[in-house]
Amino acid sequence: MGSDCLFCRIAAGEIPATIVRETDTTLAFRDIDPKAPVHVLVIPKEHYADVAALGRADPALAGELLAAAAVVAEDEGLLGDGYRLMFNTGAYGGQEVFHVHAHVLGGAPLGPMLCR
Ligand code: AMP
Ligand code: ZN
Repeated sequence: MGSDCLFCRIAAGEIPATIVRETDTTLAFRDIDPKAPVHVLVIPKEHYADVAALGRADPALAGELLAAAAVVAEDEGLLGDGYRLMFNTGAYGGQEVFHVHAHVLGGAPLGPMLCR
């Protein structure tokens, strides 16, 4: 996708981010507007619009993304008390950036999954 996509530009180093982990295929960086004491986004460097598109096209890369998210959670000290791993998908899911990203959220009780 490239220049039109915010997270492709972060992956390319064109826009700064606080990077916490990088592999050949994935990048993890702190959310610019954290919703929890720990809020890290984990992306594949390759562009896929959402987790469904990624899972369909490249299940192995989807697995690498999950593995990277697990390492981030461990590095951030979240394994003991637990954390939330979230993929907002599409309009009803509240997705705002259409480059697939896992939210790793933790560091405090996160409350119920949905507010009603
Ligand atoms: P979503 O609503 O699931 O698409 O989440 C998009 C997330 O990206 C939000 O939590 C934003 O705070 C975050 N975000 C937007 N711009 C940036 C940026 N430049 N660096 C880091 N996180 C960002
Ligand atoms: Zn992208």
